[in-house]
Amino acid sequence: MPHSPGIHHVTAIARDAQANVAFYTDVLGLRMVKKTVNYDDPATYHLYYGDEDGHPGTILTFFPWANMPLARRGAGETGEVAFIIPPAAVAFWLDRLSALHVPHDVPEKRFGETRIALRDPDGIRLVLVARPGAEALPGRAAAGVGAEQSIRGFAGTTLVLARQGPTAQVLEIAFGWRKTGEEGRFQRYAAPDGVIGNQIDLELAEDARQAGMGPGSVHHVAFRAADDAAQAAMAEALRGVGVQTTEQKERNYFRSVYFREPGGVIFEIATDDPGFAIDETRETLGQKLMLPPWLEAERGRIEAALPTLER
Ligand code: ZN
Repeated sequence: MPHSPGIHHVTAIARDAQANVAFYTDVLGLRMVKKTVNYDDPATYHLYYGDEDGHPGTILTFFPWANMPLARRGAGETGEVAFIIPPAAVAFWLDRLSALHVPHDVPEKRFGETRIALRDPDGIRLVLVARPGAEALPGRAAAGVGAEQSIRGFAGTTLVLARQGPTAQVLEIAFGWRKTGEEGRFQRYAAPDGVIGNQIDLELAEDARQAGMGPGSVHHVAFRAADDAAQAAMAEALRGVGVQTTEQKERNYFRSVYFREPGGVIFEIATDDPGFAIDETRETLGQKLMLPPWLEAERGRIEAALPTLER
């Protein structure tokens, strides 16, 4: 049976690279685990944030595309990216977001979990979900966030859809996920064995206009594959329901195939191996601009085209 234990990474679009770095490292306390370029567009950074080791399930990445028209909210997109925090850290985060003037809402509940919705500098909707058991996951002390309060990785995402059924079918058939609940306009699907990044909420938005991708929106959601064979099994299951994936692409830190799920959201299936420590040590992750072997010969030209980043 094809199977994915959860989200591998989520990639979104920002305007300004420096503001993006400041928010995700200094406000949310994530670690920049890789600073590289978009392999399909090497004049653009590809910035990766995650936990101390850059484990799959903790990685939020950005393309800063300043000149692209801004995102337009609607159906066929990822509406929210959710991180997990320990329930005991809710008050800490509310105080911190207020103190740092981060726009956020009063805590609400969905499927019994307390959640704080906030916006990043480009208006990307993030959520801190208080999940019992999060305290047992490895934390990271940084930027005034204690290890015990820190973000532990993804809870999951919310996909905004004109119809939920076809997307649900992909989650069930290709990834082996199951429906675990329904509340109002939300259906929740989960990987049965996942710990982080293992939940996707399908939000019904029947009358919404089509979303437009741009700075302030999520570009794609990547799901984990244990290895190439697991990835191939998922791609084959997708073909069985009429969904074609791209050929496998070498992303240096993982190998990926891509497809547009029937609801309009771009999905990726990325291998867990080899991970982010192949070209830097654990201690120095994210400090230098790293290029894949096939772009290394162009380093001078690439570096000259990129804005300078503090950090
Ligand atoms: Zn990706």
